Amino acid sequence: MPLYQNQNLIIYNSLSKKKEVFTPIEEGFVGMYVCGPTVYSNVHLGNVRTFMSFDMIYRYLRHLEYKVRYVRNITDAGHLENDADEGEDRIAKKARLEKIEPMEVVQRYTLDFHEILNNFNNLPPSIEPTATGHIVEQIEVIKKILAEGYAYEVDGSVYFDVLKYNEKHHYGILSGRVIEDAIHNTRTLDGQSDKKNPQDFALWKKAEPVHIMRWPSPWSIGFPGWHLECSTMSTKYLGEQFDIHGGGMDLKFPHHECEIAQSVASNGVSPVNYWMHANMLTLNGMKMAKSTGNNILPAEIYEGTTNKLSKAFAPPVVRFFMLQAHYRSILDFSSEAIEAAEKGYNKLMEALKTVESLETSSTSSFDVKAWQQKCYDAMNDDFNTPILIAQLFEGVKQINLIRDKNTSITKDDLYLLKETIHTFTFDVLGLKNTDNQKGSDKLDGVVEMLIAMRNEARDNKDWMQSDKIRDELLALGIQLKDSTEGTSYIVKN
Ligand SMILES: [Zn+2]
Repeated sequence: MPLYQNQNLIIYNSLSKKKEVFTPIEEGFVGMYVCGPTVYSNVHLGNVRTFMSFDMIYRYLRHLEYKVRYVRNITDAGHLENDADEGEDRIAKKARLEKIEPMEVVQRYTLDFHEILNNFNNLPPSIEPTATGHIVEQIEVIKKILAEGYAYEVDGSVYFDVLKYNEKHHYGILSGRVIEDAIHNTRTLDGQSDKKNPQDFALWKKAEPVHIMRWPSPWSIGFPGWHLECSTMSTKYLGEQFDIHGGGMDLKFPHHECEIAQSVASNGVSPVNYWMHANMLTLNGMKMAKSTGNNILPAEIYEGTTNKLSKAFAPPVVRFFMLQAHYRSILDFSSEAIEAAEKGYNKLMEALKTVESLETSSTSSFDVKAWQQKCYDAMNDDFNTPILIAQLFEGVKQINLIRDKNTSITKDDLYLLKETIHTFTFDVLGLKNTDNQKGSDKLDGVVEMLIAMRNEARDNKDWMQSDKIRDELLALGIQLKDSTEGTSYIVKN
């Protein structure tokens, strides 16, 4: 019997604003779509948190023995600067500024995105479709929406008619926005736009001749609107109706509201049963933004190259820190908070070592089965990782008591305890033991020996030898970092 039949998973649904029992459309299968990145710059730490949250959700669903199809897109066209329909395409702008091809921008930041997510031990999705790979499908969806009468064409661009849609359906069903208020509060269009009213959004935009990323369509040579790609690709790979749609809280409106409207307009059904939104990450109590300098790049944390932190923190420590908060809560990142998380993480890893060498006896004074169910209960309650971590520390406490011979455990119970703490720590939370990376005494010793040999070679001006040591270590994934305090190293995954 698959595990999910014994566990009662409950999910907070942003659509109903309630916790609901999770029942997939098809028993045993879960279709999950998560909005991926727009690949025009290095992935933001806040986005890393969002993707990590859905990775943890994906991992738990798989642990429950669901067959999960996890689709996460790459936005490589159509995302304009202000999230609405004005301004330049983000990728085209970056390409213009850097004097490179838009697809070079896409390639560079897609690789960066994959590398960073991999370093934080996120599993790859089952399918990772791109907007530019689905232009034909997007054009077909526009045709359907036009045929249903929920869109109109002006001078080669096609817009979704929000007011017309709202006569029969509910625009604002997810975000709670009231369209009449929105109409009242927005400035009138000053002839800058072709739209009938400001709430309408672009399905297709006619491109200027200078615009490189453009494709032929029945209406003009142009490009699809940002919201359309997610509706198109989720329908293509998961069907007109699927189980879970996730994304950052900031995408709820307008992006996800528009996705619902597009799908209802083209297929006649609401596309998603459970909408899930992950909350934001702040830095030192303030919103993170490149423009204000209150920003930190994910790699700067584990490379130790930011003056906002006292030292480098390994990716699993960052992951542990993030999962100590519930995915729907705002989380504040600070030097003190990550230092505290590192202590907790080390304590957990230490206990995972201790558990290997515990002695057993004929009786148990710890109800391991009941404790194991509490771990499941935490995750079943809308993926409550902070409660799960608290339960894991209850396990740690028991491990240390057994070690100190203050309590006893039977062989079978010890096996269950070990199995449970391993499964939740590594498979469900996706943590890794940094001992296998940096910090293990043996690796430290070997690398330090090589650093000393390299320093000797440098003192002797034997640059060939010193470069060889550096390059060969790098080929093994060990990067040396020279600074005024000497040479340190990081292990790249
Ligand atoms: Zn999306």
